[in-house]
Amino acid sequence: MKLKLKSKPARMLFEVLHSLLKKPATVLYPKEKLEMAKNYRGRLVVHPEKCISCLMCMRDCPTGAININKIGEKKFEAVIDLSRCIYCGQCAESCPKKAIELTTDVEIAQLNPQKLKVVFHAKDPDKCEEKSERAVS
Ligand code: SF4
Ligand code: SF4
Repeated sequence: MKLKLKSKPARMLFEVLHSLLKKPATVLYPKEKLEMAKNYRGRLVVHPEKCISCLMCMRDCPTGAININKIGEKKFEAVIDLSRCIYCGQCAESCPKKAIELTTDVEIAQLNPQKLKVVFHAKDPDKCEEKSERAVS
């Protein structure tokens, strides 16, 4: 129930006391971490074993952050430049095979921008490695 205080000073005093007593919205990062919302759009993960190389993700990506390369017979790798990605989720929406997912991982900062280019191989889909050059499809 909301208190209805008529005078301005009383309302201000109430607000100050209320703010002093309530739990802070911030946490002592990185010691403490906030739980991200279930559908938060963070770091991308690609499952190349599901990929059929339709290239819809590349076509629809507004920043050119994703490349799909053929690495063998019906085997593909995905190269994602996380520094170009705006985490819009369009690639995941467009993928007919649900091969792309956005995780709740937000700890992406790197001193070396080259480390933001990650490759997902068909052989070991859960493993991603850093790549020093942008792959050309
Ligand atoms: S999340 Fe958006 S910007 Fe990032 S790779 Fe997918 S489509 Fe491109
Ligand atoms: S949209 Fe999905 S299936 Fe098509 S190339 Fe991209 S990751 Fe592969």
